[in-house]
Amino acid sequence: MLSIYLKSPGQNNTVAAKEAARPIQIVLANEEEHSFELDEAALENILLQDHVKDLNVVVVSVAGAFRKGKSFLLDFMLRYMHNPVTKCTGSSFFLDEPLSGFSWRGGCERETTGIQAWSEVFVVERSDGSKVAVLLVDTQGAFDSQSTIKDCATVFALSTMTSSVQVYNLTQNVQEDDLQHLQLFTEYGRLAMEEIYLKPFQSLMFLIRDWCYPYEHGYGLEGGNAFLKKRLQVKQNQHEELQNVRKHIHSCFSNIGCFLQPHPGLKVATNPYFDGRLRDIDDDFKTHLAELVPLLLAPDRLVEKEIGGNKVTCRDLVEYFKSYIKIYQG
Ligand code: GDP
Ligand code: MG
Repeated sequence: MLSIYLKSPGQNNTVAAKEAARPIQIVLANEEEHSFELDEAALENILLQDHVKDLNVVVVSVAGAFRKGKSFLLDFMLRYMHNPVTKCTGSSFFLDEPLSGFSWRGGCERETTGIQAWSEVFVVERSDGSKVAVLLVDTQGAFDSQSTIKDCATVFALSTMTSSVQVYNLTQNVQEDDLQHLQLFTEYGRLAMEEIYLKPFQSLMFLIRDWCYPYEHGYGLEGGNAFLKKRLQVKQNQHEELQNVRKHIHSCFSNIGCFLQPHPGLKVATNPYFDGRLRDIDDDFKTHLAELVPLLLAPDRLVEKEIGGNKVTCRDLVEYFKSYIKIYQG
């Protein structure tokens, strides 16, 4: 089944079963009032569909600032989900067609801080015969002023609390800023989950785009994990604040990893008419993308969402969203 993105008629968020799949805004930050809104009806339309509502849910979220290639990545994740035959090889989900999905929506739409979910929830059967529901989520925000940083922190906390894997999309390196933002998000999330003694969050994957030091740490997961280990190391002679950020991040997630992704080439990065065709993307980028996407989405690697040590169904997730948003509307 091939899904294309169609412009929604007005603000109507109804997802009829036959309607083309598309990204749906489920959480929206109101920049003037610094408030947040959960579109409950939209969320319910996605998660309470009969064929998924009672399945355990896997939530893979990609989070980070605007214009850093998140939608581009999510479109490849969608392609992978739509090509069950080629999933195992990982290579031929690279069809040479324009990309469609999260990103290519014709330019003029304003960039909004918030959370979008893909309207189609994928049912995946794993090798042990169990079925899970996979929800793909895009979370983005701007970090250009103190107030937007706070809004972002809230939105990121919400998406971290509701996802089983959070991909933290960064470019070129992990800056001290990026770690501080992360600490702020997770601090918000921790407050919201105070009564829980387990680590509040599941998996965090740092994804560094345009990695340009492959001779120091090679592309991919192995190089990434070695790089991150170094970057998150707590050292005696470090400033206390730097030490605390690092300890805090370790204490929040059950699992932390890092993937170093090469630059996609100048056509992708600079050509305004680029439509996602593969022949225009550097081979190195494609090779590592074919490694990254199955790491996140191969049937037997999928991580079910757990809250307080219990697995969560799509139906449960709706209720968690409702109660988490209340904390921040407080
Ligand atoms: P988003 O706002 O984070 O969702 O970013 P988009 O996916 O819309 O991509 C923004 C721009 O960056 C587009 O012009 C893409 O072609 C380009 N792009 C996508 N991936 C990469 C990457 O890995 N590196 C670079 N330098 N550009 C990318
Ligand atoms: Mg985007």
